[in-house]
Amino acid sequence: MYKDKFICDNISVNENGHLLFAGQDTVELAEKYGTALYLMDEEKIRSNCRTYLTALEKAFGKGKGHALYASKAASFKRMYEIMKEEGMGIDVVSCGEIYTAVKAGFPMENAYFHSNNKTDEDIEYAIKNGVGCFVADNEEEILSIDKIAGAHGIKQKIMIRLTPGIDPHTFAAVTTGKVDSKFGSAIQTGRAEEITAIALGCKNIDLIGFHCHVGSQVFDSDVYIRSAEIMLDFIAFVKEKYGYEAKCLDLGGGYGVRYTKADPVIDITANILSVGEVINKKCGELGINVPVISMEPGRSIVADAGMTLYSVGSLKKIPGFINYVSIDGGMTDNVRYAMYGSAYTLLPANKMNEVPELVCSVVGRCCESGDIIQPGVELPASIKRGDIIATLTTGAYNYSMASNYNRVPRLPIIMLYEGKNYVAVKRETFEDVARLDV
Ligand SMILES: *Cc1c(COP(=O)(O)O)cnc(C)c1O
Repeated sequence: MYKDKFICDNISVNENGHLLFAGQDTVELAEKYGTALYLMDEEKIRSNCRTYLTALEKAFGKGKGHALYASKAASFKRMYEIMKEEGMGIDVVSCGEIYTAVKAGFPMENAYFHSNNKTDEDIEYAIKNGVGCFVADNEEEILSIDKIAGAHGIKQKIMIRLTPGIDPHTFAAVTTGKVDSKFGSAIQTGRAEEITAIALGCKNIDLIGFHCHVGSQVFDSDVYIRSAEIMLDFIAFVKEKYGYEAKCLDLGGGYGVRYTKADPVIDITANILSVGEVINKKCGELGINVPVISMEPGRSIVADAGMTLYSVGSLKKIPGFINYVSIDGGMTDNVRYAMYGSAYTLLPANKMNEVPELVCSVVGRCCESGDIIQPGVELPASIKRGDIIATLTTGAYNYSMASNYNRVPRLPIIMLYEGKNYVAVKRETFEDVARLDV
């Protein structure tokens, strides 16, 4: 049963009708660690990293293509250790992420500091912690970096974030939709050029290149190809006008993952190779050196490496309307349906051999009618208190967006690796939740 819902290759079923994740029995894991909990498949995280590292090296040559993990997708110490071991760079977007990465012993020269509003304190903190590169968003930030870097007697590497004017969801036309983004500076309006000139005039700043990030859940390589072309045109224009040639070009993150079988499977390797071909050719035409290319996947590194397990608390049938299955988690551990209406695939982890014949909304336990994990879920008619439900593809933007709404403690993260399992993040206690109350 449910085979049509097997959207990733790290799930299967055993002879007892139990769902397996990374080859391990999820029902046993639920028993061992208690529910609700997050599971993460470490081998999957590592192999997702290697897909990018290998493809980028193949497309651009050794040392000429960098893969940076956008750590906002799932940020905790063990992740940064794994990224270090795999040779990935990282994106960080706050001092909290910088702190965590430093604590994990991550080599901070391979960290790229994003965010559209870095305070002077943030900039100071990042410089003190040796963050390799700032991805500067605006003029105020550039001037502040220049000043603080000067006070520290260093020349800080930065990239400038630009908006190439691409809307990834209407890929047929170069729309101006993204010109009005809160992030970066638009090439089309001339602001990108102005801000480049400002950075070039700062003596404590080493401008290494340009950055763009056009969106998320992108399934089409055309989006990257078109943004690369626009960015390379800009690099050539700046070279011509200012005599400055960018060494690096960062194309952002955003490759899509499968939340349900409606999402396509993408061949990331083939996509990157086709982007590479276009970039190499275009640089030749423009008479510029091929910059060092980076990509910043977040979701596609961790999403399919994650699963959430819940216990069912109740089944409520409202004749003629809707059936509700309540679980011992909710929007506090997965806010994505409540926030974006995101689709997910859910499975009855201990009843995988039973027929899916009950359609219901799986809902959380927060005091909020919008606290829905997913509507329209198909479960066995026998579903009852104590059964285990799994949500697939929860590795990205679940833990990292978790909250303590209703003072619900956040869930632990259990890593599965080589047939073993271990705690990577502990379950919060009530004491943790009330720790800062005075
Ligand atoms: C969020 C983000 C990413 C990662 O996006 P995914 O969709 O998780 O791959 C990369 N770069 C920047 C600048 C981002 O804000």
